Amino acid sequence: MRTFDYLHAEDVSAAIEAAAQPETKFLAGGTTLLDLMKLNVERPAHLVDITRLPGLNTIDVSTDVIRIGALAKMSKVAAHAGVIEAAPVLSESLWRAASAQLRNMASIGGNLMQRTRCMYFRDPGAYSNCNKRNPGSGCAAVEGVNRNHAVLGTSDACIAIYPGDFAVSLVAFDAKVIIRGSSERIIAVEEFFLLPGETPNLEHQLSPGEMIVGIEIPRVAALQRSHYLKVRDRASYEFAAASAAVGIELEEDGKTIRDVRIAVGGVATKPWRLRTVEDALRGKTLDEATLRTAAAAAVEGAKSSGHNAFKIELTPKVVARALMTVGDIA
Ligand code: SF4
Repeated sequence: MRTFDYLHAEDVSAAIEAAAQPETKFLAGGTTLLDLMKLNVERPAHLVDITRLPGLNTIDVSTDVIRIGALAKMSKVAAHAGVIEAAPVLSESLWRAASAQLRNMASIGGNLMQRTRCMYFRDPGAYSNCNKRNPGSGCAAVEGVNRNHAVLGTSDACIAIYPGDFAVSLVAFDAKVIIRGSSERIIAVEEFFLLPGETPNLEHQLSPGEMIVGIEIPRVAALQRSHYLKVRDRASYEFAAASAAVGIELEEDGKTIRDVRIAVGGVATKPWRLRTVEDALRGKTLDEATLRTAAAAAVEGAKSSGHNAFKIELTPKVVARALMTVGDIA
């Protein structure tokens, strides 16, 4: 591990100022960063400890928006009665992530910023060819073992999956991320994450000297009737083979779809909104055949790299199953 210096920031302004210097990382829960530092993947020269910054661990559920501070713990948000009542998908996506110990440590801001589980990325001693870690070096996964890699949003340079669950539910419901730097800016979580393209080393829109201070989720009717379905190789402490964050709002007749929200995880290079499927379902009658027909478009443009071909077959089934559950027709 590379030697680094350590600063304990007393307030947001001090943290932002310290983070403006090159090769700086924020330390919050540390559940991803410290792992990657031990693996020699992350090699910061400076660590800015933000764990005790005041005012960033709040959870506020009002009539029109849910606001979550960046330092709120995953477990606190998952267990928050207001969140469970107003937005089941947010709570469920957190409960199904990681282990109890990690959820008690990890912050919401850090959860968004977690990095891919691509085994080639995480093993610099054995694999030098990783464009995300070492731009221009190639991609060991394209011709390697790629069962856990993406089929959507990939490029020739990188096929790594965005590994998180919570951000998938945020993207499905038009959540925004609040960023503080020299000024404050608010951008859609969907736009916060970048496609790999030719620069897979660039994963998000955060610039040096900026930090995530919170998340806002607008309260829409479909959020109250929402669900997160995660299919994985074992029942706990595992990343998604494919997941779906969904929500639905019906007309007064109880069977016509007024609004629907869908995003998928475990299959794409960033949390992946399925607007084509949503558009195909609005105004339609809620029944299994309609859901399955529309869900087939979930993998439009998908590209297999070999071992991960099963995700193209699995994803529409996960989307349809999640919608059937939330529509009470499962
Ligand atoms: Fe690196 Fe991306 Fe290829 Fe994995 S898929 S080896 S992260 S370039």
